[in-house]
Amino acid sequence: MDRPLYGLVEAGGTKFVLGVARGPEEVIATTRIPTTSPAETIPAMCDWLASHGPLAAVGLATFGPVEVDPAAPQWGHILGTPKPGWSNTDLAGPLAQRLGCPVGLDTDVTAAALAEYRWGAGQGQPSVLYFTIGTGVGGGAVIGGNPLAGLSHPEMGHFHLPLHPADAGFAGTCPYHGTCLEGLASGPAIKARYGLSLSELPADHIGHEVIAWYLAHAVIAAQAMFEPGRIVLGGGVMGTPGLIERVRREADRIGNGYFRGKAAEIVVLPGLGDRSGLLGALALAQMAIS
Ligand code: ZN
Repeated sequence: MDRPLYGLVEAGGTKFVLGVARGPEEVIATTRIPTTSPAETIPAMCDWLASHGPLAAVGLATFGPVEVDPAAPQWGHILGTPKPGWSNTDLAGPLAQRLGCPVGLDTDVTAAALAEYRWGAGQGQPSVLYFTIGTGVGGGAVIGGNPLAGLSHPEMGHFHLPLHPADAGFAGTCPYHGTCLEGLASGPAIKARYGLSLSELPADHIGHEVIAWYLAHAVIAAQAMFEPGRIVLGGGVMGTPGLIERVRREADRIGNGYFRGKAAEIVVLPGLGDRSGLLGALALAQMAIS
């Protein structure tokens, strides 16, 4: 008997990546559609998935904020987002209705943490935490196989940390908190200070040290709260050559030998590369019917 066929959705601010798969090693088809308006993008998403035959479940890994509480009336809705036209948009409802199957849902970054826990850099670990550092900064965690959630999904990009001395006077770019982690280390925060992306800066530019210092503080905060077996650092900023090594060195220095996890071992790039989002959707689909 064939294994179940799952629909996969990785919903992002600029594009939706779609797929159908029977397992992580059996992704049968993928496509991408631009994120325009809900009236255009949602039917296009449903049409493509429906064209691949009956699906056992759909996994939806989405940008946030999104309502992840299955008991809430707004479950599956994108909540207040700066992305024009998308606030209070029901993403999960149209999928369930059109495809007639269960929908498993979480944030893109929690989904990525799930994929890395099951099939990537976090295999065999008791817990995995995933930070994405790109246009924004977000984080998700899987503890004992379960995605971490409280009143809502975590917002790990929005805590304060000490300012690097070179940043004295920098107001940060987060509209809510100024100099939270996202306001200091996201792609736009890097450009706001230096005019270029981190990978475009000369190798000896102070920016490399500054951003590594913030990410190292984020690593230490995560260790202090969860002692995860792996802390995966993904997102566009992490493509900067040498950055992960700097983060490890700095985290070891700040941690001062206190934590069980040693940065050289536990701080890693995504084992699944840029597939962790889509495979995260697969994990969510599988959980929806297990
Ligand atoms: Zn913030």
